[in-house]
Amino acid sequence: MTAQEHAMWVGGEALPASRMYEVRLPYDGSVTARVAEGDAASLEAACEAAQVGAGSMAALSNAGRSDLLLRAAGLLQRDVAEFANLLTLETGKPIKEARVEAERGYQTLVASAIAARELAGEAIPIDGVPAGRGRLAITIREPLGIIGAITPFNLPLNLALHKVGPALAGGNAVIHKPSERTPLTAIRLAQLLHEAGAPAGAYNVVTGSGGEVGQKLVTDARVRMITFTGSAAVGKLIRASAGLKRVTLELGGNAGLIVDGDADLDLAVERAVPGAFLYSGQICISVQRIFVHESVVEKFTNLFLAATAKLRIGHPLDETTDIASLISEEEARRVVTWIGDAVACGATLLAGGQRTRATVTPAILANVPPSAKMSCGEVFGPVVSINAFSDLNAAIDAVNNTPYGLQAGIFTQNLERAFRAARRLHAGGVIINDIPGFRADNMPYGGVKESGVGREGPRYAIEEMTETKLICWR
Ligand code: NAD
Repeated sequence: MTAQEHAMWVGGEALPASRMYEVRLPYDGSVTARVAEGDAASLEAACEAAQVGAGSMAALSNAGRSDLLLRAAGLLQRDVAEFANLLTLETGKPIKEARVEAERGYQTLVASAIAARELAGEAIPIDGVPAGRGRLAITIREPLGIIGAITPFNLPLNLALHKVGPALAGGNAVIHKPSERTPLTAIRLAQLLHEAGAPAGAYNVVTGSGGEVGQKLVTDARVRMITFTGSAAVGKLIRASAGLKRVTLELGGNAGLIVDGDADLDLAVERAVPGAFLYSGQICISVQRIFVHESVVEKFTNLFLAATAKLRIGHPLDETTDIASLISEEEARRVVTWIGDAVACGATLLAGGQRTRATVTPAILANVPPSAKMSCGEVFGPVVSINAFSDLNAAIDAVNNTPYGLQAGIFTQNLERAFRAARRLHAGGVIINDIPGFRADNMPYGGVKESGVGREGPRYAIEEMTETKLICWR
């Protein structure tokens, strides 16, 4: 395979850089692309271009922005195969998962187009207080201007679209810094938006390191908001250096799933196995901790082991592959040490956990104590724990007993127990009779505690990406 060269995208055209770096397929280390490495000067060029782009976007009507996003959605649908291929080359995820991500990107763009059409202020009942007598008041929503988007490696296209779609829908320009490990689909997306008719400077992609390009984006006064998805550690750094900018943070998780005694076990296993091991567990709402009622834990565990054994490990471009690799060999080594830590704390390793280069076989742990890293941290790898419970309230407490709270799930046929869990689980979303990894691209999505601040889903993100202006008429 010859590695193609990719420039950045700024002001409606390709922006080269003096330095290039290599993107490698983590599965076998082969070089898949050579990419321009941006720096502070590239970011400066992007800020200047985005100022122009913000003016052009603000001048479009809601319908005009919606139509732009619909044209982009149509082009993405046309080019799904190409985007899926790029996704696999940059992330190393299996091609069939990459295709799902590209198809979801279409849905995110359509949902953003709808959000643009429906963007509205409200009439304020201002004479409900004495001071408002004789006045009419309405609010309108105005764009913020330039929005900085910083994204992680694991879903480089759809997570970017969850920022770019609503930002453009709200009439803003975007400067996007993708993960240095996965810049390819962002650059291709910029070309696609250009083809769809996006004004020059509306969407700019600057590659490069978090420390240099990311930090300049976070601290530049022209950038009015940072929308970040990534680790809690980097999220805290960004929050601390963003000053008075608006900041939304979609951070990590270690999702807990409860399987009650009356649950449909076949369905629970059918959903929880991919929920734990898709993209080698490198999804923020991957199922990491499963709590199963003691009356069915043995049966559930056996079904889970059998279904996991059927997963095929192989090259990510092979259509039959379920598990390819983690993002790097270093990450694979870390995951193996976390499994060792759980075992040292008293857990039993029932299957998996062997590493070859960046690949780790799907690992299933039983009886993991709360003190293990697996119970409280984010493993971000193909590892799941199965613990038994007798009392539902104690299982809910166990799910809650972590610094994170992105989404949680429960399988049960009992309405009272389902809604007790839904009310008591401390998470941004609770999924009944499905896995915490469930996400439809138009629903509100985000975390509590160290899982983040703010909500995505185009209709919700557009609220965060626009300003309320009051107009009051005497
Ligand atoms: P990361 O935090 O290491 O990097 C994310 C992005 O931040 C990258 O683009 C990186 O270059 C940039 N960055 C790093 N340091 C920076 C700095 N000082 N200033 C500005 N930008 C900086 O995350 P990752 O390893 O790429 O992704 C994995 C993490 O993302 C996991 O914790 C996962 O849970 C989380 N994640 C969360 C969600 C969600 O929706 N909540 C979705 C996907 C991934």
